[in-house]
Amino acid sequence: MQLELPDNRLVVASHNQGKVREISALLAPLGFTVVSAGDLHLPEPEETEATFEGNARLKAEAAMTASGLAALSDDSGLCVDALDGAPGIYSARWAGPDKDFAVAMRKVEDELQSAGATSPAARTAHFVCALCLALPGQPSRVFTGKVHGDLVWPPRGERGFGYDPVFRPDGHDITFGEMDPDAKHAMSHRANAFAQLVDALSQS
Ligand code: IMP
Repeated sequence: MQLELPDNRLVVASHNQGKVREISALLAPLGFTVVSAGDLHLPEPEETEATFEGNARLKAEAAMTASGLAALSDDSGLCVDALDGAPGIYSARWAGPDKDFAVAMRKVEDELQSAGATSPAARTAHFVCALCLALPGQPSRVFTGKVHGDLVWPPRGERGFGYDPVFRPDGHDITFGEMDPDAKHAMSHRANAFAQLVDALSQS
């Protein structure tokens, strides 16, 4: 990849340990030293934009400005078709102030039941990930990836994070919560956005 970074360091502009872990795993083969916004005690900007892409840009540019380093952010979430795309950009907020995803998954399930969505075909959903790379003195670049599947109940598996235990990707019988992390990283919305980023950089 043709990417020259000051100090060879890249800030992962997130305070979410699950995301930092997954992004660090995706970046590991590229040989950068990854530091998280949490490690640098950077402030967590409020996500005020209406799209995943807008919020990703806001987070990456805030981390780049505060640290003076290249920054990579992730804004992501779960979009449920029967709920008109909710929780979408509010996926983290559905977990409440305690960031309790058992609560968030239960809320999704309650809304699906209220909408009468009981068959697998009525319970389709996708994860979206917008990655933004902000480099000092250059225009930011945003890449969006998706993975489609359906939602199971009750939650299954202890792996991953967030809504992983209820999300079953198309073509699989197990949820992301039950899946080996390497298998998730090979097919996830985040991996898909990351592949586009690597592709774009290798052509620049
Ligand atoms: P935000 O991007 O910080 O607004 O948070 C996105 C939220 O979406 C996370 O806190 C998770 O709950 C959820 N989310 C994003 N990606 C994943 C994933 O790979 N698995 C499970 N949940 C995810």
